[in-house]
Amino acid sequence: MSTDIGDAVASPSVETLDRLRRIVGAKGVIDDPRDMEPYLVEWRGFWRGPAALVLRPVSTQEVSDIVKVCAEAGIGIVPQGGNTGLSGGGIPFEHDRVVLLNLGRMNNVRKVDALNYTIEVEAGCVLAEVQRAADAADRLFPLSLAAEGSCQIGGNLSTNAGGTAVLRYGNARDLALGLEVVLPDGQVWNGLRSLRKDNTGYDLKDLFIGAEGTLGIITAAVLKLFPKPRDRRTALAALPNVDATIRLLDRARAATGDQVTTFEYMPRICIDLVLEHVAGAADPFSRAFGHYVLIELTSSAENAALGEALENLLAAAIEDGLIVDAVVAQSETQIKALWKLREALAEAQKHAGASIRHDVSVPVSRVPDFVREASRRVDAHLPGARIVGFGHIGDGNVHFNVMQPPGSDSAAFLKRWSEINDIVHRCVAEFSGSISAEHGIGRLKRDELPKYKSATELALMRRIKAALDPSGIMNPGKVIQP
Ligand SMILES: Cc1cc2nc3c(=O)[nH]c(=O)nc-3n(C[C@H](O)[C@H](O)[C@H](O)COP(=O)(O)OP(=O)(O)OC[C@H]3O[C@@H](n4cnc5c(N)ncnc54)[C@H](O)[C@@H]3O)c2cc1C
Repeated sequence: MSTDIGDAVASPSVETLDRLRRIVGAKGVIDDPRDMEPYLVEWRGFWRGPAALVLRPVSTQEVSDIVKVCAEAGIGIVPQGGNTGLSGGGIPFEHDRVVLLNLGRMNNVRKVDALNYTIEVEAGCVLAEVQRAADAADRLFPLSLAAEGSCQIGGNLSTNAGGTAVLRYGNARDLALGLEVVLPDGQVWNGLRSLRKDNTGYDLKDLFIGAEGTLGIITAAVLKLFPKPRDRRTALAALPNVDATIRLLDRARAATGDQVTTFEYMPRICIDLVLEHVAGAADPFSRAFGHYVLIELTSSAENAALGEALENLLAAAIEDGLIVDAVVAQSETQIKALWKLREALAEAQKHAGASIRHDVSVPVSRVPDFVREASRRVDAHLPGARIVGFGHIGDGNVHFNVMQPPGSDSAAFLKRWSEINDIVHRCVAEFSGSISAEHGIGRLKRDELPKYKSATELALMRRIKAALDPSGIMNPGKVIQP
């Protein structure tokens, strides 16, 4: 893709860099190339880009002071959280004109209001820490993804992260009530409201959520909490075909009083990959099936009788041919073992060869037809390629990954990235879907976006960017071309 970031951003002078160093002090600056490396490389090594400095502020005031200096000097800023993103938004382009601003030291939980079911946290709080703080107050913060030990709330909100509980609780956007944002001119917008109802004009927070750092820097947020689950039941069901998945989901939601928190689809190849590449993973069935769904029910009521509801659901589904077999976890260890099959997939794929990835969504009702049709088209174009199409099927999100044919050359395969993208994304568009369900646009899909958004929508996005960031210093060149 083009690395064009426009002419807006300047190279920082020695004087400007000194001013930035003084704002954060010695502890907040990283300038040794070896120490900068982990911030400048994407975790899988897909992208790498230099920066004049890595800055690690500890307060909103320091962020504001940094942005004011950068705005005055016309210097680009790349915000970064846990650097677990999958679209390259937190990694600079291949030039040296930006500073990288990592929020990791802004990691205070500011306030828990248990009766209001809210928590106020700084942007650099690691997601798992927020979950723990909620748990300590006998509450649940339901955002959950495999990167939760490293990703940060600021990054989660900036990518509008999804994960495994969207079906029940929504994505990061649905979980945010208020934000604090440092704007591209350095002003601080304090929108840290903890209200469920607030119809006082445009909802500004929604501009920054999912903006991938292109409109401002999120420094804190007020997030929704929920009653803590007291009952949790997990099962792995084997299905005869992909059509049965959404029929089972429909049935599960109705039969359990809508207590389905997770509904994750995996075709057999996913189980094979995990068994082959991840130590300690085990197939809970004595024979292989074509399709699987990981189902989890939760309830905040002690006596919700979820176990009975799940057993009844599975028994009826077997009788009607919707599933062919099922295992229900009987202990925390068994729950973890079932989850491992799903959560270790990213790691397994990493070891299994090159993949051309698609994080896409279509209406839930159309997922089976989409999976079938996209697979047919890829297969016709690239015989032998292995399709690893799995994901959060309960909210229409499929990670439709195309793995290199066994024995083929990885580099030659990866050169076909945009050709395969075209096939899958066109199919997504025909099914009224989205080319980025939860991972964002970043650098990965910036040049794909104009093919699938209308001219009107793109023009609106550019007008918003120009209105908030007229000098184009916020995460230059990401999401939308200047
Ligand atoms: C194993 C694994 C599993 C994953 N599973 C999921 C999943 O199920 N669902 C899902 O949605 N994602 C998933 N991801 C992707 C990733 O974890 C999420 O996108 C996450 O929200 C990124 O958070 P981060 O703190 O690492 O952000 P980063 O990667 O650091 O940054 C992501 C983007 O946000 C911007 N940004 C970061 N912090 C701020 C801030 N404070 N203000 C403004 N902009 C900011 C960056 O500039 C960048 O554009 C997974 C990743 C891994 C490695």
